[in-house]
Amino acid sequence: MRSKIVAGNWKMNLSQSEAKQLCKEVNSLNIGSGIEVYIFPPMLYASDCKALATNIKVGAQNAYPKDSGAYTGEVSMWQLKEAGIAAVLIGHSERREYFGEDNALLKNKLEAALAHGIKPFFCCGEPLEIRQNGTFLEYVKSQLEESVFHLPASEFEKVVLAYEPIWAIGTGQTASTEQAEEMHAAIRSWVEEKYGKEIAENTAILYGGSCNPGNAQALFACENVDGGLIGGASLKAADFSVLVAEETWTILN
Ligand code: PEP
Repeated sequence: MRSKIVAGNWKMNLSQSEAKQLCKEVNSLNIGSGIEVYIFPPMLYASDCKALATNIKVGAQNAYPKDSGAYTGEVSMWQLKEAGIAAVLIGHSERREYFGEDNALLKNKLEAALAHGIKPFFCCGEPLEIRQNGTFLEYVKSQLEESVFHLPASEFEKVVLAYEPIWAIGTGQTASTEQAEEMHAAIRSWVEEKYGKEIAENTAILYGGSCNPGNAQALFACENVDGGLIGGASLKAADFSVLVAEETWTILN
């Protein structure tokens, strides 16, 4: 049985007191059975959140692959581990776009996270022009081939995948359930080709892109959607509470 996961990416939002308050609220939500909840606060607040989180896990939005050294401004996977941080986002489209992170760097980050026992949430997804020209399956497949599919099965098993079509992130334009399911099923089939059926069945593939209380139930009901990576709707506990609630996951399933 693969994990069901709801993860909140807070991006570069919230003051320290707001972050602590939101963490407390999310930590005390009524979380449906078997659903794992992660929050990814700004790095500066990760330890504060870690100290408050008893029912949820805390991840980092980014980390550098080297362990230590002259990399001004960066935080390493090793340092995350030391601070008790459970997970890290790798390959978010905002990191790819604004910070020039390419598939080769993301491959190094993935290996470093795994080497230090940090759970990687690897994000992939196509921009609008690729969606429109119809080559989105090839595009996402090559992101996975260039950064992820070199891993041995024993390491790949620890990775969470997140499909986040860039045209849906922060735009209010969610992928339809058909679009999401088509991509998620394709990703699972590529995992099966590479690692076999059992690992493919056990791989958690999250959807991200304007997922909110109004559309989460339909998205999470898709056969190959195992939860969500949530931006905007993770910043309000009331919205996030719907996404982690038992009913959102059970009624349509
Ligand atoms: C994200 O940035 O990972 C994301 C999915 O954002 P939003 O939910 O706001 O589209």
